[in-house]
Amino acid sequence: MKVGILGGGQLGRMLLQAAANYEVETYVLENDANCPAAHLCHHFVLGDITSYDNVYAFGKGLDAITIEIERVNTNALLQLEKEGVKVYPSPAAINIIKNKITQKELYKEHQIPSPAFVVTQSASELHNHHDFFPAVHKIGQGGYDGRGVQVIKDQQDIALGFNAPSVLEKMIDIQKEIAIIVGVGTDGKNVLFPPAEMVVDPSLNLLDYQLSPARLPQKVLWKAEALALAVVKHLNSPGLFAVELFVDRNDDVWVNETAPRVHNSGHHTIEANYSSQYDMLWRIMLQYPLGNSKEILPSAIVNLIGEEGFTGKPVYEGLEEVLKMPNTFVHIYGKKETKPGRKMGHVTIISNDYADLTYKANKIKHTLKIKA
Ligand code: ADP
Repeated sequence: MKVGILGGGQLGRMLLQAAANYEVETYVLENDANCPAAHLCHHFVLGDITSYDNVYAFGKGLDAITIEIERVNTNALLQLEKEGVKVYPSPAAINIIKNKITQKELYKEHQIPSPAFVVTQSASELHNHHDFFPAVHKIGQGGYDGRGVQVIKDQQDIALGFNAPSVLEKMIDIQKEIAIIVGVGTDGKNVLFPPAEMVVDPSLNLLDYQLSPARLPQKVLWKAEALALAVVKHLNSPGLFAVELFVDRNDDVWVNETAPRVHNSGHHTIEANYSSQYDMLWRIMLQYPLGNSKEILPSAIVNLIGEEGFTGKPVYEGLEEVLKMPNTFVHIYGKKETKPGRKMGHVTIISNDYADLTYKANKIKHTLKIKA
């Protein structure tokens, strides 16, 4: 079976590693011949995932296509789908998710709890929505990793808003941010991974470290799982989805957003779960039985982020020391250049003991530094 991946970043790279277990011929489309996935696929195609012509030419003749980022040309995917290429998830589902406005409208239409919102076209419109403050302004399309998200505490911050179609959301008093990955088979059967909980570094707005399974009261877990299932039900497509949720101070649960693809919050599943998120997506695309998503052991993920003040060929200071730590798995993405704040890899730790996970996560953060 010939399967194409739109995007050749670290998620594509890990998806390709999992493909080695199956009989599949892999193709990657990306505009950088040195991208992390370029050398792991059977066929690398240089091109732009946002271009109709590039995506269409890439997909024609393939049996199936998946994505590692939602910023893809869905019109080309719709045409390919019409011509019989299987697309995971469906272009219709990608279209809904790709724009935060249509995504929020889906939640609203189906009464899935998600922060209250209004759609805005420009920053000046925020003057009409004081009742939403403190709020979060999110650009409809093109934002990722916290770019495209702006906190509007009060009137003073209005100038920080976006002059493009966006949503203005009420701010949730967050106790915990969690994510649940859901696999949906072509027969409609689904499987939930145990939730992961995030600890965010407010200065970079990037994940600090992550623990899984999230430590949650049973009732909160049930609510979160019910919401994740409701989201995928209404997206109505096979594929793999990551539903990001907020647990507030009252233990209420809200959907923040959904990613229609393998997700950073699921990196640990390679070592920590019986079937990884990557394995699960291959099972879905190859129409095999779904795997066992359960954890083998609890785990933590530490992201390896380029140090401030260093740009250039990466040097992994402290790598040996981390490689000596038991039950610790280093993943370097092979990016040719480090930059301040750039995600260069991650480390997974597995242990029965959450205190051990937290201790090691902090130790790794202070030991392994990416300089140039
Ligand atoms: P991105 O798509 O860039 O990841 P998100 O919508 O996930 O953006 O927002 C980034 C972060 O901003 C979230 O992880 C959360 O910490 C914070 N955030 C987003 N929306 C809200 C909200 N309604 N209330 C409180 N915090 C929020």
